[in-house]
Amino acid sequence: MQTAIDIRTVTKTYGTFTALHGVSLSIMDNEFFTLLGPSGCGKTTLLRMIAGFEDVTKGDILLFGQNIAALDPNLRPVNTVFQQYALFPHMSVIDNVAFGLKMKGFDLPTRRKRAGEMLDMVHLSSFADRLPAQLSGGQQQRVALARALAPQPKVLLLDEPLSALDLKLRQAMRMELKQLQQDTGITFIFVTHDQEEALTMSNRIAVMSAGHVQQIGTPRDIYESPVNRFVADFIGETNLLEVEVASITGDLAQVILPGGHSITCSTATHDPGRHHLSIRPERLTLGPVGTGLEATVDQVIYLGTDLQVLVRLDGGTPLQIRIQNAARIEVPEPGTRIGLQLEEGA
Ligand code: ATP
Repeated sequence: MQTAIDIRTVTKTYGTFTALHGVSLSIMDNEFFTLLGPSGCGKTTLLRMIAGFEDVTKGDILLFGQNIAALDPNLRPVNTVFQQYALFPHMSVIDNVAFGLKMKGFDLPTRRKRAGEMLDMVHLSSFADRLPAQLSGGQQQRVALARALAPQPKVLLLDEPLSALDLKLRQAMRMELKQLQQDTGITFIFVTHDQEEALTMSNRIAVMSAGHVQQIGTPRDIYESPVNRFVADFIGETNLLEVEVASITGDLAQVILPGGHSITCSTATHDPGRHHLSIRPERLTLGPVGTGLEATVDQVIYLGTDLQVLVRLDGGTPLQIRIQNAARIEVPEPGTRIGLQLEEGA
């Protein structure tokens, strides 16, 4: 597969502040790639450098093998969709979509035809003559997408494009965006701080913090095998325990939990000693006392499909557990003594 974007040890400084520290990553052609991290980690800065809105302080960015440092933003085969869709309020929907094509010198019949096709793709053909103010937020964002896709960029940059929408719409738009990427075959680079958004849409994710890439991998890699405490904590819910790794055999570790209990679990580390252990709440199962670890139920929270059970191991360590199919199980009372098991492979 061809590499669309190659980011090579890119550093960005603003005065004395370093926003990105020698970041390297490769994004494949036709990939839905997400830059995920908390506010201020540098994801927008990286996106803006690809677009050409910011200079690179050190390092190189290659677009389909070409170094783009000297290339004007409007000459890069890249387009951006922002959080604020910034449609022209006095122009009809179709004219908004055709606008970028005009700037690129396409003639009127081609502009009308291409803009019509783009509106069709985002299911807004019947809204072509409306003004943006006569559309809902979700529809406006789809117009912005159609506008950005109309010049057929090789890479589409999306900077938190769903964050202005309400939750239901955001969830529906995730699927639409994913479908749009698959239909067009255009490489999407999506910036978000929302881990659920990243997990549901991406082929691969780069998790960033404080100007560094912490891990790059598929949603499954990132969720199942976080490389460090930051990634484990940032992606999904987890129980993070300080443990002592007593011994390691292959990818299995014998681990002593706080309070002295010993368990076997999978590990990425090769060094015995103090480590953080991440246990996903859904990987713990409840059983009768005498099976596995012993704990006391603190609280039970009904969440519709799931049940969240907060327990305390003997020795005091709190753990949260997620049980699916909440309707089917017997809800334990606070104070109940239970047995606790770690699902195999966890
Ligand atoms: P958010 O999700 O809040 O947009 P982000 O991860 O996209 O966050 P960036 O916007 O890339 O973060 O900013 C990274 C860091 O660089 C932040 O600490 C920010 O304050 C700083 N920064 C960004 N632009 C500038 C600038 N023009 N001058 C000085 N510092 C800047």
